[in-house]
Amino acid sequence: MKVGLLNCLLYYPLGPYWETFFRELKFDVVVSPALSRDEFDRRRTRFAGDICLPVESVAGHLDWMKGRVDFAFIPKLLDRRGDLYICPVCAGLPSVIRHVFADGPEVRSFPLTPFSEPGREARRALLPLGRSPGDIRRAHVVARDRYAALEAEWRADLPGRSPGPAGVPPRTILVLGMPYVLGDPLTNGNLPDLLRQRGCEVAMPLNLVPRSMIRRVHVAGYPIYWSFAGMSLHSLEVALKERRPDGVIYLSSFACGVDSVVVPIVQAVCRRCEDLPCLTVTVDEHASAAHVEVRVEAFLDCVDAGIRKRALA
Ligand code: SF4
Repeated sequence: MKVGLLNCLLYYPLGPYWETFFRELKFDVVVSPALSRDEFDRRRTRFAGDICLPVESVAGHLDWMKGRVDFAFIPKLLDRRGDLYICPVCAGLPSVIRHVFADGPEVRSFPLTPFSEPGREARRALLPLGRSPGDIRRAHVVARDRYAALEAEWRADLPGRSPGPAGVPPRTILVLGMPYVLGDPLTNGNLPDLLRQRGCEVAMPLNLVPRSMIRRVHVAGYPIYWSFAGMSLHSLEVALKERRPDGVIYLSSFACGVDSVVVPIVQAVCRRCEDLPCLTVTVDEHASAAHVEVRVEAFLDCVDAGIRKRALA
């Protein structure tokens, strides 16, 4: 039996866990390929109103899966203790999809993350397919351990500020945002690669604080409810405490309610640090690689000016 995993949204970073889980349960796992801009444009017209780019991209992946899988798996992640807290748009996606894509592949949805054992809903979905509660538990343990090993691989310390002189690379740039915006080539505008091609060391929340997505983070005494928002803010805090980066970029999705709260906090924190340039790049269906490139070039000029100033001081 073939299960389809959409190569977007929470596939970054949970995809490896899901793949292992379903493979351990003897499903054939089919992962949709990364969506090119042309395919996205051809297949995106299903959602009405302003919706963020990561959610819009779901249409292309579901379309690709038609006739290729027996069912597509989309995680159902509602407010559960000790697990992920995601935005309502993403949390409600499985129900929306069943109505908007009535002609698409069958969608099965239940809570499934490495952070808590699959519960009643997972058993209700998988027992009729011939998998026993013991099989499900074992698959979870194997997948959870593999995910933990990956987290250890992702983990890397911030290289620290460029010593200079005269703006010579390497420059260390902290790139913040939702893991799926940063990870999906469709939504990240190639920004991490652009920075690397220009000789920068790039650090992201998954490198600095991979587990903080399930930790309640506080800012100025207030709890940050959403897991990935907390992860970005926690990684900024860690980066500033340990070794400061040369610059911070927040990659934000247009129409994202969570980013509308987090971006001003990131900007305010960076403003309080002397000579720490901070750039917000907003991506939507109109954003092009050229638009991102121009912003990055201008930002790196600022970063280099700061490095030169420090070297002269
Ligand atoms: S948190 Fe923002 S980017 Fe992520 S799904 Fe929700 S609205 Fe979209």
